[in-house]
This record gives sequence, C-alpha cells and structure tokens, in this order.
Amino acid sequence: MGADKARADAEGCDVAIIGGGPAGLMAAEAACAAGARVAVFERMASPGRKFLLAGKGGLNLTHAEALDRFHARFDQTRLRALVDDFPPQAIRDWAAALGIPTVTGSSMRVFPQDYKSAPLLRRWLARLKRQGVALYVRHRWCGGLNPAQIEFATPAGQRIVHARAMVLALGGASWPRLGSDGAWVTAALAEGVPVAPLLASNCGVEVPWSEFLRTRHAGAPLKSIVAWVEGGTPRKGEGVVTEHGLEGGLVYALGAELRAGLARCSPTVLYVDLAPDFAQERLAEALARPRGKRSLASHLKRQAGLAGLKVALLHECLPREALSDPARLAAGIKALPVTVTGTRPVAEAISTAGGIRLEGLDEGLMLKTHPGVFCAGEMLDWDAPTGGYLLSACLATGRWAGRHAASWRT
Ligand SMILES: Cc1cc2nc3c(=O)[nH]c(=O)nc-3n(C[C@H](O)[C@H](O)[C@H](O)COP(=O)(O)OP(=O)(O)OC[C@H]3O[C@@H](n4cnc5c(N)ncnc54)[C@H](O)[C@@H]3O)c2cc1C
Repeated sequence: MGADKARADAEGCDVAIIGGGPAGLMAAEAACAAGARVAVFERMASPGRKFLLAGKGGLNLTHAEALDRFHARFDQTRLRALVDDFPPQAIRDWAAALGIPTVTGSSMRVFPQDYKSAPLLRRWLARLKRQGVALYVRHRWCGGLNPAQIEFATPAGQRIVHARAMVLALGGASWPRLGSDGAWVTAALAEGVPVAPLLASNCGVEVPWSEFLRTRHAGAPLKSIVAWVEGGTPRKGEGVVTEHGLEGGLVYALGAELRAGLARCSPTVLYVDLAPDFAQERLAEALARPRGKRSLASHLKRQAGLAGLKVALLHECLPREALSDPARLAAGIKALPVTVTGTRPVAEAISTAGGIRLEGLDEGLMLKTHPGVFCAGEMLDWDAPTGGYLLSACLATGRWAGRHAASWRT
C-alpha cells in the first residue's frame, strides 16, 4: 500500500495486526486513530475473504432489536460490555461514513443497502490506506507471542517484524480455504494460553435420513415449525432438509443446546412441532374423523393442513403403528423425534465456538500471560447465533483490542 504520514513499515511499527478479517481491520482502524503506526499482516493474497463470502448471503452487519435483547444473544456476559462499546447504531454510522448506507429488514436484521460486502470492504481498505495503515499480504504468522520479534513466512522467505504491541485476529476454523484454519490453537497452547476447543457453530446437524427422504426432499425448506432439545426452550423458525441432515436459522439457533445434548448422549433427539398452530387434542380429534377411502396423505392434508415434506417426515420418524393411531399421530406431529447423530464439520460452519478463554485476557483484551499481545474477533471464546451478532462482536472486539494495543506501553 502507498506511503503516508503515519505509515508503518513491515520491519518496524507500533502495532502489528495479524489477520485481515473484520476484527483485524477494525483493530487497525482503532489503533491508527489512537495515533499508532499500524501494519496489518494477512496470510492470504487479499484480506477479508470470509467477509466477502458473508456478502453472498447479503452481509447481515448487525441487528436493530432492543439492546437488552441484542445483549442476550451472546453467551458470554463479558461480550455484552464489549459490544456496547461499538453498538449496532455505531456500526451503522460507521458504514454510512464509508458511504455505505444500511437498511433494516423485516426481521430487524441490518444490511448494507446493496446487500454486498465488496463495496464496503473496498472503501474500508482505501480509507485505511489513506490513514497510513500498511497492509502486507501473503505474510503467515509463524506462531511466536513476542511483539518485539514477530516471525512471518512470506513468498520471499522469513521476515521478522518488531512492534510494541500485536493484535491477533486470526478467526476461527470454519471455511479454512478462506484463510482462518484454527492452526493458531497449537501455537497458543504451546505458549500456555488457555484455549477452549474450537467447535462448529451455526452449522447443520447430521440426521441419518433414509435414501427415500434424501433423494426426494434434500434441499426442501421446512417452514413454520417449532423445535427444541429435551429440557430446552422451544423456538419457532425454519429449517432446510439436506442430504446430511438439517440446517437453517432454527437449527443454528438451537446449536449450543444440540452440542450440549450430543456431548451428554449421542445420538440426541431434536423434537419438531410440525403444526404449531394446532393444539394436540384438536389434531387428535380431527385425525380421528373417518377417512373413508382417502389416503393418509390426503387425510393429513384435509384435517391438519400437512403435506409434502412434513408428511414424509412423519413416515420417516414415527413407527408405522403410530400412523394409524390418531392420538399417537397427533402426538408425533406435535413432537416429532428427529435423531441427530452429530454436527456437520467445523469447516462447513458459519462460525466457530470456543477459542481463547476470556479469563485469559485482561480488561483490554491483552493476554495475561503475554504482555503486549491482544486478541480479537472470532478467535475468542464466545458464541452467538446468526443475525449480524457475529460481525458486530468481531468489529467491537477488534476496535477495543486495537485501541488498547495502541496505548499499551511496556
Ligand atoms: C458463509 C458465511 C456467511 C456469513 N455471514 C455472516 C453474516 O451475514 N453476518 C455475520 O455477522 N457474520 C457472518 N459470518 C461470520 C463472519 O464472517 C465471521 O464471524 C467473521 O468474518 C470473523 O471475523 P474475524 O476477523 O474474527 O476472522 P476472519 O474473518 O476469519 O479473519 C481472520 C483472518 O486472519 C487470517 N489469518 C489466519 N491465520 C493467519 C496467520 N497465521 N497469519 C496471517 N493471517 C492469518 C485469515 O486469512 C483471515 O483473513 C458468515 C460466515 C460464513 C462462513
């Protein structure tokens, strides 16, 4: 990137940011605004690849619900204070200042007006460049936690960078081909940094569907359902049947409970109410009406409004005898037991739970064990559902870590 008044060079800078995702870029912006000479080091040929992928789904930047509800989406209380430092409205203002106005969808999710991430990333990188932030791509951090001696592998060989502080923003382990592969965990553990195992979050689950269901219904949406895990809170939403099992917003929202259920006992059961608007007694009464020569499918359509995939699921998940017993059939419609045998691999997940344990970080998100080393983004141990919460927390923790790294003195 071009030279500027505050431009750092790779060999010497105040703050070295490692990882050019949204958390790292925001850390760079905050550190630079605090007066530091900042350099960003990214292992891939260009920064923000996962951010660009998120744009394919419209780039859900944040969420416009009331702040108490927003806070409740994060599993770690400490995250709630951090996101308050850069709350949803501040994120919208920040995007607007980059010339990217935002819109609120019907579900209160907030998106760039054009539903794309490339224009936002392009403008952001250009502004960082103007502000003097240096960007070095194809620089893979090799794992040391000493800011005064940071080693990178580059196409031109090894490179050592001397900084006052460093911010690690290396992401989780999902979609490794975009750059964040979770390889940092080995380096962190070797240095005594407390790390919770990386787990797939906001991902599909595996269900051993029959050949029939897989070939006929994979890809079909499962609309207007309620689902829950034994002892958990029922949630309304939608899912999608896949070749491997189930995915979609509702499944992602139940992810932590499903993971806990699978850890207790695998397989575990996901209960699905296929007809949330019907009371079970009313369904049982309706299904007990004589069906004459009509098939079960047309009886279910007429009496319970069920068709297609929902009927196929009844055949798939209930014992044959239950299909001819109105009371058992009604009970099955209201709590269909779907056998979940696991989560899909972390490489396919939208995000990663686990990471550097928050108790290993001080107020400024600096490693208690390694002075001058700050951490941000998805590599921290927190979890949240889809809905803009992931990027919100990555931006907020990046900003926080960048600011504190800039003011850190040995
Ligand atoms: C398909 C998909 C859609 C998504 N959609 C949304 C959405 O709409 N809204 C939302 O809130 N979230 C969404 N997310 C999640 C969101 O993109 C991530 O939570 C976010 O990108 C994490 O930011 P980060 O900066 O912490 O990590 P990353 O974006 O993963 O960035 C980490 C960077 O570090 C680099 N790196 C890793 N190791 C090294 C190393 N050794 N040396 C140098 N550099 C290294 C990586 O190459 C990468 O560029 C989506 C994710 C996926 C997969």
